[in-house]
Amino acid sequence: MHRKIIIAIDGHSSCGKSTLAKNIAKQLKYGYIDTGAMYRTVTLYAIRNKLITDDSIHEDALQAALNDINISFQYNEENQHNDTYLNGENVEEQIRTMEVSSRVSRVSALKFVRTAMVDQQRKMGTQKGIVMDGRDIGSVVFPNAELKVFLTANADVRAQRRYQELLGNGKEARLEEVKQNLLERDELDSNRKESPLVQAEDAVVLDNSYMTREEGAQWVVEKAQQIINQ
Ligand code: C5P
Repeated sequence: MHRKIIIAIDGHSSCGKSTLAKNIAKQLKYGYIDTGAMYRTVTLYAIRNKLITDDSIHEDALQAALNDINISFQYNEENQHNDTYLNGENVEEQIRTMEVSSRVSRVSALKFVRTAMVDQQRKMGTQKGIVMDGRDIGSVVFPNAELKVFLTANADVRAQRRYQELLGNGKEARLEEVKQNLLERDELDSNRKESPLVQAEDAVVLDNSYMTREEGAQWVVEKAQQIINQ
């Protein structure tokens, strides 16, 4: 029996972490958890309940509401995607809008939000055999993860990918705005006080700017296999 490991994938916005993580999880028959979706869901809740505006967040009210925010994932056979649910409602589409993207980094910088999410993420990993992607997985959530990957790609390539993804999903988008958003998020995510995006010391770096999805996944799966078979 092979041992099961935890694979942490961290990195900049829109460099294909989810795509990579999903691909690896499928090949290894592991579970996949998109932690960005969790912060996006809290942000959607805050927007819907008017707890966040362009320039302020009602922190006390959001903290009090955290107990009412139940986030779960359910596999969707139709599109073979792990859909995100907020209190039983499928919000997979709503959490990917620019409205959410432009506010999520302010919500995810709040300590009480991070504490609650990290707690849930650790519970999801107790059985191992998972691939988890985010910003602080290798540094904070699972500092003992057996394999940590720090993923990055050139900003223009990333903007182009996210732009195509939004268009492909029938969303309106402007390339310049998409690029601006991801650079802003990188800036906020890297410079916040609580669990900033950092490359863990023991992470392996993968720049996938000029790699296909398959090449990137293969690169990580080979590394994972070596550890699993040790
Ligand atoms: O991964 P994704 O781009 O969907 O994440 C959305 C946002 O959630 C990030 O820009 C970041 O602010 C926040 N996030 C985080 N920690 C994680 C995952 C995401 O702060 N582990």
